[in-house]
Amino acid sequence: MANSITIKTLQELDSLRRAGKTLSAVVKDIKRSLKIGMTTRMVDELADRLMREKGAVPAFKGYRGFPGSACVSVNNEVVHGIPGDRIIKEGDIVSVDVGIVLDGFYSDTAFSVGMGKVDAKLKKLLEVTEEALRLGIAQARVDNHLSDISHAVQKFVEGQHFSVVRDFVGHGIGRKLHEDPEIPNFGPPHQGPVLKEGMVLAIEPMVNLGTWQTKVLEDGWTVVTADGKHSAHFEHTVAVTEKGPEILTQ
Ligand code: MG
Repeated sequence: MANSITIKTLQELDSLRRAGKTLSAVVKDIKRSLKIGMTTRMVDELADRLMREKGAVPAFKGYRGFPGSACVSVNNEVVHGIPGDRIIKEGDIVSVDVGIVLDGFYSDTAFSVGMGKVDAKLKKLLEVTEEALRLGIAQARVDNHLSDISHAVQKFVEGQHFSVVRDFVGHGIGRKLHEDPEIPNFGPPHQGPVLKEGMVLAIEPMVNLGTWQTKVLEDGWTVVTADGKHSAHFEHTVAVTEKGPEILTQ
């Protein structure tokens, strides 16, 4: 696996920067428009329109048969929520995961947000998950090992008495949506491949209030927590550079 991690050329990195910038503009617009009372399908339709307006193609639509352009996961839904008739309510946590392909290059990002007045424990869950992403990204440095990212996420999250999802992981990204390596959000430090300049990684902690265990609903996509408690998800596409981690989707 390790030797199949692609190293991007400078030209490829520039294309990935453009894709990342485009996707972050999409996210900014989604965040501005996301409101209580919307259905998750409306969020998807908005995301789809914004991507296409910016000249990008939704990367998730039709991916292994996924019907949406965004994954919209609410409360106990961890990831891969299928957009539909569910109405977003006050106090919900909504996780939106979006990916595009622009001129042959992929970008992938996700955020979670509390709608209106949100329980203090859920606010904490959101803060911890976003901070875990930041700490994971900080480890995406030349000469670090891949699992330094994983370990930083797990150590922080568990120190805050939350749990990290094990069944779904981050991934390399570039000319494909999912490239090697897999990037778990747990594990011991200093393991796995050594990070090199030009690697591009989608780092995406999924953090649960309760147990880390998950299950997939009968729709074949929606991942929910096994105990029904809330979950949050943040993701960025990050390039490993000599100057340090470069977040392409912010
Ligand atoms: Mg991803």
